[in-house]
Amino acid sequence: MGIIIKSDEEIAIMRQVGRIVAAVLDVLKSEVKPGIKTEELDVIAVKELEKLGGRPSFKGYQGFPANLCVSVNDEIVHGIPGKRVLREGDIVSLDFGAIFDGFQGDAAVTLGVGDITDEAKRLIETTGAALDAGIAAAHPGGRLGDISSAIQHYAELKGYSVVRQYTGHGIGREMHEEPKVPNFGVPKEGPLLKEGMTLAIEPMLTTGGWLTRVGDNHWTVSTSDGSLSAHFEHTVAITGGGVEVLTAL
Ligand code: MG
Repeated sequence: MGIIIKSDEEIAIMRQVGRIVAAVLDVLKSEVKPGIKTEELDVIAVKELEKLGGRPSFKGYQGFPANLCVSVNDEIVHGIPGKRVLREGDIVSLDFGAIFDGFQGDAAVTLGVGDITDEAKRLIETTGAALDAGIAAAHPGGRLGDISSAIQHYAELKGYSVVRQYTGHGIGREMHEEPKVPNFGVPKEGPLLKEGMTLAIEPMLTTGGWLTRVGDNHWTVSTSDGSLSAHFEHTVAITGGGVEVLTAL
């Protein structure tokens, strides 16, 4: 299939869906508090999405049973919302995707539930900053490895590990398009970045090692060593002048 270059018109639609995804995550941010069940966040996400005219993209994807991924503490990605009650001191990663006018948007944030430890705060801040570093390294004429290595370098400098089994991805009409966007790599290597490429960049960091395990529900991915994990994601477009974050308000 190869990497699909989007036209300006297609990127304009992806900007719209990106804004929808960002708006839903923004509402969820204010709902995360001690005592809420993770399945309640899924319900809120769908209600907000319907108001904005989008459709959920995760539900049914390879059989995933929910609209929102909710991953708590040592869970990294693909957590299934359910009866679990968020407690003071937890950290929770919310990953949300939507479809609008045939195109996809995908973004994630990690939030503290009530008061969290300094260790957890620092992990969350660093993971967000690692995403920013990856985005800042993206420009036309550069290479995908510039993004990957910027994320890895920043994360490891701060003493964290980057998860390797799961990566970012191209995105467009499909949630997962080429290329894979690893969170580790070598500068000046990998596919050439060109105007019109649209990528979901999504560092997953841990306070321990980078090995992962999949839970009994066949979805939830956790750290093998039980260490804390955070996850941030934006859908971006490579533009003539550099890069544009599409999943922004
Ligand atoms: Mg993604």
